[in-house]
Amino acid sequence: MVTAESFYSKVRSELEGIRDAGLYKSERIITTPQGSRINTSGRDGVINLCANNYLGLSSHPKVLLAASQALSDRGFGLSSVRFICGTQDAHKELERRLSIFLGMEDTILYGSAFDANGGLFETLLGAEDAVISDELNHASIIDGVRLSKAKRFRYRHNDMADLRAQLEAANAAGARFKLVFTDGVFSMDGTIAQLDKIRGICDEFGALLGIDECHASGFLGKTGRGSHEFRGVFGQIDIITGTLGKALGGASGGFTSAKKEVVELLRQRSRPYLFSNTVAPSIVGASLEVLDILESDTSLRDKLEANAKFFRRGLEKLSFDVKPGDHPIVPVMVYDARKAQELSARLLDLGVYVIGFFYPVVPKGQARIRVQLSAAHSEQDLSEALSAFETAGKELEIIQ
Ligand SMILES: *Cc1c(COP(=O)(O)O)cnc(C)c1O
Repeated sequence: MVTAESFYSKVRSELEGIRDAGLYKSERIITTPQGSRINTSGRDGVINLCANNYLGLSSHPKVLLAASQALSDRGFGLSSVRFICGTQDAHKELERRLSIFLGMEDTILYGSAFDANGGLFETLLGAEDAVISDELNHASIIDGVRLSKAKRFRYRHNDMADLRAQLEAANAAGARFKLVFTDGVFSMDGTIAQLDKIRGICDEFGALLGIDECHASGFLGKTGRGSHEFRGVFGQIDIITGTLGKALGGASGGFTSAKKEVVELLRQRSRPYLFSNTVAPSIVGASLEVLDILESDTSLRDKLEANAKFFRRGLEKLSFDVKPGDHPIVPVMVYDARKAQELSARLLDLGVYVIGFFYPVVPKGQARIRVQLSAAHSEQDLSEALSAFETAGKELEIIQ
């Protein structure tokens, strides 16, 4: 008989395997609010270059005030899913405001973007239909597609010829409805999907287009609406999923925006919406304030853009190998996994917190440091961070 004890020893040996492969993830303990500088175990005032706090709203005084106002006006929690007794006026207002901000007809809130993606495909598509997915799409999209019975096609990352080939394959397989789905921005490289081209190809094939805007909503495009605005196809996307947990305040919560009837069907059938708790009032109140801030002027996204340019140029001047792009994700290519780890460790010694990525998160031989800029960074923060990169880069002979 296989014993329960052997289950636990299998778990322990799996953990060992993860450690041996150098893939073990540990949590860094932070003792301050999120910000441009944080205190972390043993080190104070570290410059943080690895948060998704793109607009610096995670600890913005107006956002904190709105959250505490909502906390006192509407309570801590609702102890209910949306359709029983978990919908306040503010939830409806946030759905309305997000729809306007994103240029969509209607919006449904979820506990997270992971849930938004998890509850999307199964609800809308059946076995006769097809999802055509970029191969590097986020895990939550992959899982969401897996939950559906739709036929699955994957196109090579950002490859328009292959997208076309996969749409042809979907036609050949007799697919009824075709949904092309892509991250608006891919978080390892900051690559922005070519939504103008993808929209054109979708139209040729009569396909729907859906995008996940987690790394775009709030700051990409002239008024920060996202990658559809950046690519000139605002108002031309069928489905947008996104998060409140990154640029738009950074707490938690997600959403799906689409045509009215699509959102209506999601409210009837989407399982993470039906069977998981409503978004907390403080988050809803804070998110409304976030939209007020972003709609009143573009100063935060402008600052973020300027910071990203400044830092990118600074690294290039130091002759670091930086992947080209327009996104505040700035990948510093090191190629060698060990070197990438040494660089991030040395940078932390020097007071700069960044994360190294290596196989299997990125392809073998493509190890890198991912820098993420924020509107919260001051020029002082960024200049200091650049000197730390210079010092560490020279010591490790990554630059001359
Ligand atoms: C972060 C992220 C998610 C998950 O968002 P949560 O709201 O934290 O669940 C989904 N998709 C993409 C592309 C992301 O980057």
